[in-house]
Amino acid sequence: MTVQGGRIAAVTAPGNGSGTGAADATTADCDGLIMLPALVDLHTHLREPGDTASETIASGTRAAAHGGYSDVLAMANCVPVTDSPERVRHIIERAARTASCRVHPVGAVTKGLAGRELAPLDAMAAAGALMFSDDGVCVDDPTLLVQALEAARRTGTLVAQHAQCPRLAERGQVNAGAAAHATGLPPWPATGEEAIVARDVVLAGATGGRLHICHVSTAGTVEIVRWAKSRGWPVTAEVTPHHLLLTDLLTHDTDPLHKVNPPLRSAEDVAALRAALGDGTIDAVATDHAPHTASSKDRHWCEAPFGMLGLETALPVVAEALGAGGEPDWGLVATVMSAGPARIAGLADVAGRPLRAGEPATFTLVDPRADWRVDRTESISASDNTPFHGMTFRHRVVATMVEGCVTADIDHRLGSRRRACGR
Ligand SMILES: [Zn+2]
Repeated sequence: MTVQGGRIAAVTAPGNGSGTGAADATTADCDGLIMLPALVDLHTHLREPGDTASETIASGTRAAAHGGYSDVLAMANCVPVTDSPERVRHIIERAARTASCRVHPVGAVTKGLAGRELAPLDAMAAAGALMFSDDGVCVDDPTLLVQALEAARRTGTLVAQHAQCPRLAERGQVNAGAAAHATGLPPWPATGEEAIVARDVVLAGATGGRLHICHVSTAGTVEIVRWAKSRGWPVTAEVTPHHLLLTDLLTHDTDPLHKVNPPLRSAEDVAALRAALGDGTIDAVATDHAPHTASSKDRHWCEAPFGMLGLETALPVVAEALGAGGEPDWGLVATVMSAGPARIAGLADVAGRPLRAGEPATFTLVDPRADWRVDRTESISASDNTPFHGMTFRHRVVATMVEGCVTADIDHRLGSRRRACGR
């Protein structure tokens, strides 16, 4: 692979030449590595402004770059909430100064995420918000959601819903059924997700506004999304890496590292989510990267916040979940982690592009024989609340390049360009 002027100049097969020979060109030796278009995350919590002890735009995007990402969408539940064009512009400006990948703000659907009054969606879209979401809480009022979907249609954006019925999943802590019985903790039932998704896809169909379902976690939700798509309604869906690999059996130990919202589900749900990713019912993998300081997370289960890290481990986890111990379908991985989310976010002209001459040099390199043991003390994120600590993964991201700039390079394969880009 030869890179020149931020673009791919040539892609050569192993042992077939060494690039253009131009003085300003860089040739990356990718032999033995898997090369993918750099990843796009639709669902990242960067915590800045507000909770910079758990993450900042700088630390979170460094973690993203080390996970293979070129682009992340930054959720709105900061303090203050991203619910005005000024807040959207603030995040764009802050990211321009400190980020290691491209950051795209998500605007809140309702002011202060309070669920009572619509935020100025048109003005936020004009300021650069690509998507709207109250993630962390559900937009429960259907009349507000209808207004938001109509604004999304007007502005060419979309609404991402955290599907959690406040009444059905009230106080829910772990998956209903065996996990709730084993732990005695309040159940978070599948119906709490599915009832909202069923309602919302109907509203998307009626308004024509694009709806995206965040972190799908149940087999029933997969069926509803499949049905909505069969009717031609403008609905897309994402699944997290952790919901593709981990089950609710882990929550029996009540270790808060396994506390996440929606909760880890059954093995049957995990199988349905994997199948849905394979058949296109679910469009994208999104991390729901949710950093928390050790002091906030290391408490009794009920007092600890929901959420786990995701950016640094997403690619190996997805490869493991889809590869069943062998190599996954890398074309599928590229679709669900790069081209698919880029298309949903409206970034398809700059992200998720095919790797051929003339395209931006925006890619990630994966070592397929890394046997990488995840160690939370080596976390690039400012937090270390990963549920994958101690697990060994066959694959590991070793380098990421964005438009010719090296943003991560653990093996120093691309080292010469790092200096040129000043990162
Ligand atoms: Zn959420």
